Amino acid sequence: MKELNFKDFHISEEILKALVKLGYEEPTKVQKEVIPEALNERDIIVKSKTGSGKTASFGIPICEKVEVEKGKPQILIITPTRELCIQVKEDISNIGRFKKIRSTAVFGKQSFVTQSRELKQRTHVVVGTPGRTLDHIDRGTLQLDEIKYLVIDEGDEMLNMGFIEQVELIINKLPSNRVTMLFSATIPEELENLCKKYMKNPITIEVTPEEVTEGNIEHILYEVEDKYKPRVLNKIIITENPDSCIIFCRTKENVDNVYNGLKNKNYPCGKIHGGMMQDERLEAMKRFKRGEFIYLVATDVAARGIDVEEVTHIINYDLPMEKESYVHRTGRTARAGKEGKAITFVTPYEDRFLKDIEEYIGFSIPKVEEPMEYEVESAKEAFLEKIKAAPKIKKDKSRELNKDIMKIYINAGKKKKIRPGDIVGGITSIPGITADNIGIIDIQDNISYIDILEGKGKVVLEGLKSVTIKGKILKAEKARK
Ligand code: AMP
Repeated sequence: MKELNFKDFHISEEILKALVKLGYEEPTKVQKEVIPEALNERDIIVKSKTGSGKTASFGIPICEKVEVEKGKPQILIITPTRELCIQVKEDISNIGRFKKIRSTAVFGKQSFVTQSRELKQRTHVVVGTPGRTLDHIDRGTLQLDEIKYLVIDEGDEMLNMGFIEQVELIINKLPSNRVTMLFSATIPEELENLCKKYMKNPITIEVTPEEVTEGNIEHILYEVEDKYKPRVLNKIIITENPDSCIIFCRTKENVDNVYNGLKNKNYPCGKIHGGMMQDERLEAMKRFKRGEFIYLVATDVAARGIDVEEVTHIINYDLPMEKESYVHRTGRTARAGKEGKAITFVTPYEDRFLKDIEEYIGFSIPKVEEPMEYEVESAKEAFLEKIKAAPKIKKDKSRELNKDIMKIYINAGKKKKIRPGDIVGGITSIPGITADNIGIIDIQDNISYIDILEGKGKVVLEGLKSVTIKGKILKAEKARK
């Protein structure tokens, strides 16, 4: 059979161009199956692991279906965690960059007013966590009458986190002639009931779950009592000397303790748990994704769906209580065909949980002895060299896509009655600039941001020194964000 190519889906040039720039050469397995069905407007249940390219499997068809001229949201995506919400929003913005698709993320613990302002502008795709999405619906700041697609991402996690009632409340407020897609690693009974109740004759697509844990991950186990964990951790991170590592703990107290232990030793580290301020939590994730530090200490909030390039090691400092969680945690490594190592600490009292996990993943995890003192000593030099070196910044998959885009701002907005048409009119009167060179326009009260594409940013900035917008020469500068 001929290999399927993105072009075979008959999607528009603007989206194909973004995929090329993102380095997506051919569709992944889940994309091959999901994209044609989603384009055909079928309701779909997808059982698939993260890391399989599932975000793009719904991102590509929904971007294709968006009608950019329309002002109200057409797509609603619900995710269980804020981190995933932001990640999905960024993925959609990247795929829809040249089609000028605007997407907005709405999640808790961030200014409601700022989000409402964003929602007031033309926005095509809204990605939200359940609670905050409901708030916006209830307060009338998120309008749903034009929603054509609903995507529920990480459905089983939504269930675990107790969000399923909120999801149901949201579904009940949506237009009934919509397409619904559910993505979930497993389909427990409650989710199945939800599907029966709200989906129209859905097809189920399953992408080989048995590939979940084997493949390129080496799994090992240390039997350690709680009180010795800090010491053993220190030994194995010296002998393993990872390039990039997530250390999972069960509670935020443990995250704080492990993090403080590493910090005191001046190891390059960061942390994430649900008790942290929102901005700190997002900043830590951003810095870890960029490779600014090696060790991220986290609770399971960093497990689901989170896509970080080149994580070489996962350490389960605490054994996960849910067997599925083992798979989600360890799935943060060995992504995109790379290799990885999953190291788990188990206390002598946790046999029952370990058995559950081993049964679930279908193999037993080999137990190994903790490294000997001389092994630690001989690994120390290389270890110290790595942690003292300047961080190796990881390659950003959207860099190629964004490198020819300059965001500029002008010092006029809604209060001066500026509209997108005024901006496009002014900018296209600059010689050598066409409407195709203008990306998303974001008009705020007193300023406006405009994406200038195809490397034309400098020409536009120069041109705006003499070109008028609404009869005036406006101050234009390169925006920092
Ligand atoms: P996900 O399962 O959505 O978390 O995606 C996992 C990773 O695969 C992300 O870094 C995506 O950017 C990347 N990816 C998705 N689709 C493709 C593709 N067709 N080719 C190469 N990389 C892809």
